[in-house]
Amino acid sequence: MTKLDQPLFNRLALIGTGLIGSSIARAARAQGAVRSIVATARSPETRRRVAELGFADQVVETNAAAVEGADLVIVCIPVGACGTVAKEIGPNLMKGATVSDVGSVKGSVLTDMAPHLPAGVHFVPAHPVAGTENSGPDAGFPELFVNRWCILTPPQNADTQAVERLAMFWRALGANVETMSAEHHDLVLGITSHLPHLIAYTIVGTADELGAVTRSEVLKFSAGGFRDFTRIAASDPTMWRDVFLYNKDAVLEMLGRFNEDLSQLTRAIRMGNGEALFDHFTRTRAIRRGIVEIGQDSPAPDFGRTHAGLPADPLPRPYAADNE
Ligand code: NAP
Repeated sequence: MTKLDQPLFNRLALIGTGLIGSSIARAARAQGAVRSIVATARSPETRRRVAELGFADQVVETNAAAVEGADLVIVCIPVGACGTVAKEIGPNLMKGATVSDVGSVKGSVLTDMAPHLPAGVHFVPAHPVAGTENSGPDAGFPELFVNRWCILTPPQNADTQAVERLAMFWRALGANVETMSAEHHDLVLGITSHLPHLIAYTIVGTADELGAVTRSEVLKFSAGGFRDFTRIAASDPTMWRDVFLYNKDAVLEMLGRFNEDLSQLTRAIRMGNGEALFDHFTRTRAIRRGIVEIGQDSPAPDFGRTHAGLPADPLPRPYAADNE
């Protein structure tokens, strides 16, 4: 990432300063992508913490106050709250400003926010496909978007210059940018993000419901695969509740296909059809390799986890060879 000579925007207003909002602030400042940053959050505790962390030039109390004089406004809150916030900020938006968001669902954001935004304001919804299982302003970091995709879903009548300027902003933060319709986004993310989260929430929940003794063994032997699901299942409950409520149709469509495929695998196991299982697992292994090949994950085995060294004294003295 090279720092910009000239800022792309004068004043960036961030509504919501959790993992994503605070990462945008940190990256935009580090890259000189904006002249100044004004931030707000719903609770006084978060606003106080944002002021302490110092990644914004100004912290204000209301959403309406935050957008005054801002030429770029990014709403970084759960998707279910975007409509209410658009209504609050609509009257205070500056003519010519670009309004965007970072929500993981795009169709509902478009329908909920657009009616409250005045003419002369450019609305370009966006979704940076980057994140961690942590939340809040302390969780953010400037490199979060580097080599990750940011998907823009501008409405059909969007101003192309405004779309390109927002794309440049995201590129300055290290992201690769792609543009598609909101509907297509929701379908694609339904399979690549929303369904995997639903499966992780299910598996971890099922394990939790097992008897107490078994549950302790689930935790103890979690390196068998379970722990990788627990990372996803530790994601923010509010955010993910909203994702499933607001991307209902696409998720149900993908869930239907998933259930059909699961039934086929169930049948293969029941019938002892090793060939079907082997073929299926060979196909899925190639998908993992493809993800690594296009740089979307590290080639390091076991997600790059470090392994502890061998024990210094592996055998108790009475059993060691020099005792014989
Ligand atoms: P987060 O760390 O939990 O932060 C959420 C922020 O939204 C906080 O500032 C919170 O304020 C505020 N907020 C919560 N409920 C609100 C409401 N009803 N009205 C107004 N503000 C509210 O969440 P995040 O991970 O940054 O996610 C924010 C958005 O980014 C979501 O739409 C999510 O879909 C999207 N996204 C997340 C990820 C990810 O991996 N986390 C990735 C890509 C996109 P308080 O702290 O004061 O409550």
